[in-house]
Amino acid sequence: MQRDVVDQRIRQIGLAKAGREMKVAAILFTYRCTISCRHCLFACTRARPDVVMDPHRCVRYLGQLHELGRVVHVAGGEPMLYWDVLAETLQLADERHLSPHFIETNCSFAKDDAVVRQRFGYFKQRGVLGVLLSADPYHQQSVPPGNFIRARRIARQVFGQENVWATDASDEQVRDYAEIARDEARLSEYVRTSPPMFVGRACAELARFVEPAPIDQIPPMRAWTGGPRPRHCAAEFDADEIWEVHVDPYDNVQTNCGVILGKADRVAVRELMARGLREANFVTGILSQEGPWGLAEFARREHGFQVPETARQKCELCYLTRRFLRPHYGEVLGPAEIYE
Ligand code: SF4
Ligand code: SF4
Repeated sequence: MQRDVVDQRIRQIGLAKAGREMKVAAILFTYRCTISCRHCLFACTRARPDVVMDPHRCVRYLGQLHELGRVVHVAGGEPMLYWDVLAETLQLADERHLSPHFIETNCSFAKDDAVVRQRFGYFKQRGVLGVLLSADPYHQQSVPPGNFIRARRIARQVFGQENVWATDASDEQVRDYAEIARDEARLSEYVRTSPPMFVGRACAELARFVEPAPIDQIPPMRAWTGGPRPRHCAAEFDADEIWEVHVDPYDNVQTNCGVILGKADRVAVRELMARGLREANFVTGILSQEGPWGLAEFARREHGFQVPETARQKCELCYLTRRFLRPHYGEVLGPAEIYE
């Protein structure tokens, strides 16, 4: 079974290394979140619809994701927001030997040692091998650094250091993240030196810190998987190369690029990937061959899109074009949450 192969690799080299090596697949448990990070590519926030994965459906999709031979996790939004649903899901998954390899959290729940030990202990009891804990100036705008520091300390005790996917920054550096978030000049410098993808909320809130360029001169930027990007986005829609594939609470098979590849309740994720993601729909086709420049030209020609003269990244041009096209192609560009 694919899950056993991945489990074994995680036990050999640890969770984060195995994740980078084998790539990842995730359940987007909900688009709701306890916080509203300025870099959030899915624009998650507490005000999103109260929609969460049903536990039985979630276990079925965990089974589909484990078939991919990737490191499987539960993310969001913030999955801890629905603790009872998450706990039931993990119990059902454990009974079927389908537990996710790790859970991702922003640590807002980690207000005291007792709750952290209780939740991480439960994860371990249910066959979860580790956790991913988020920390940077965007998260620490809202989550007290002490929460992350506490969660990282206890997670290392419970799962072992190699199974805690988190920054190695010192406690002092993590506390400084909150200072950076409060200081516009330092935040601006942080965004300029390590820009996030300017999609979702990052497009609205952080792009202004970076100088735009004429769209035919946008400098090459890192891809989701790192490294400079070509103009086309073939790697983002290649079954072997795509960094991350998700199933969301609406059954969408979703990418980091906000393009729906299919419905997991109709066609299993492995089958979708075997058929070829570049052929999943006309948007993946255009982006794979011509990148966002091709999609912007399509939007101009077919729907009168005013192509922006400048952008900071190809992903920003892509997001602006996709957001314009969404009212025409909601079944491919969605769900609504990530385009609002
Ligand atoms: S980046 Fe993560 S923690 Fe931040 S708003 Fe988005 S889902 Fe929530
Ligand atoms: S340009 Fe669009 S499709 Fe390509 S990597 Fe960026 S968001 Fe994804």
